[in-house]
Amino acid sequence: MTRSGIVTVVGKPNAGKSTLLNRLVGQKLSITSPKPQTTRDRVVGILTTEQAQLVLFDTPGLLNPKYALQSAMRGAALEALRDADVVLYLADAAEGSPVPLAEAAGLSAEPRAPILLVLNKADLLGAGQRAALAARFPEAHFISAVTGEGMEALLAAVVARLPESPFLYDAEDVSTQSMRFFASELVREAALEQLEDEVPYSVACEIEEFREDRTPLYIRAVVHVERESQKRILIGAKGARIRELGRAARVKLEALTGAPVYLDLWVKVLPNWRRKPAIMERFGYRLAQEDRP
Ligand code: GDP
Ligand code: MG
Repeated sequence: MTRSGIVTVVGKPNAGKSTLLNRLVGQKLSITSPKPQTTRDRVVGILTTEQAQLVLFDTPGLLNPKYALQSAMRGAALEALRDADVVLYLADAAEGSPVPLAEAAGLSAEPRAPILLVLNKADLLGAGQRAALAARFPEAHFISAVTGEGMEALLAAVVARLPESPFLYDAEDVSTQSMRFFASELVREAALEQLEDEVPYSVACEIEEFREDRTPLYIRAVVHVERESQKRILIGAKGARIRELGRAARVKLEALTGAPVYLDLWVKVLPNWRRKPAIMERFGYRLAQEDRP
């Protein structure tokens, strides 16, 4: 009998959710960055073993909604929690004791699914810190999404809690998301790497054309920002920065597709797009009910 179900990874921005998902699925599906909150929509990865299939949801950070974008992120995170068969509550162990999930997320009730407390970044802990955390949270799983420590035990604990079920997806699938989606995430990741802290939340990427019927593959991507000043930063002096961005993004896209890529890259200003629900939906953000146009 096989087991199969939805495993939702939740935690504060920067806890290492995307890194864990990538390690579990063994492929670069969800973008990671030292800048918080780069994952705005839930990304589905699929891990299939002999007896079990985990359908993994990455969640945007659990934040207080300050403006439409953050409330969309929160809406997506709460939805992923509701759909879960198992919840992995990931915390940065180096930050000390995590608060209970319901409190951290401002939930009125605990999710119905079992919650596994996962203390990530164990590689950063001293022996004393670790012993103190282990005494306080005897059920916690210590892992390092970077080194892979604790991964097998965690996987076994998850599988034991999944419902008995036939596989929900083909065993070969790693994700239900389209190539275009991942391509746009990688271009956005490359853009974020070029930018200072103020700008990242203003960046959205759209793949306008993705042609696999030619060599190199032809991909036309647009990086949208909110202000002219941000566009100037992205273009750089004599276009130096946009050239570097294009090069870095192309390397990522070639790793994703396994083929040479011609990247046609544009930067456009869409004033205050983060406050415009219709534009956010066009970019694929799932809006909370009250933000829908
Ligand atoms: P997310 O916001 O929860 O998705 O976090 P990310 O996966 O983007 O990771 C945030 C940062 O923490 C990145 O710089 C990661 O490389 C780093 N990180 C993630 N997991 C670990 C870990 O186990 N050990 C260490 N040392 N760093 C980690
Ligand atoms: Mg992330």
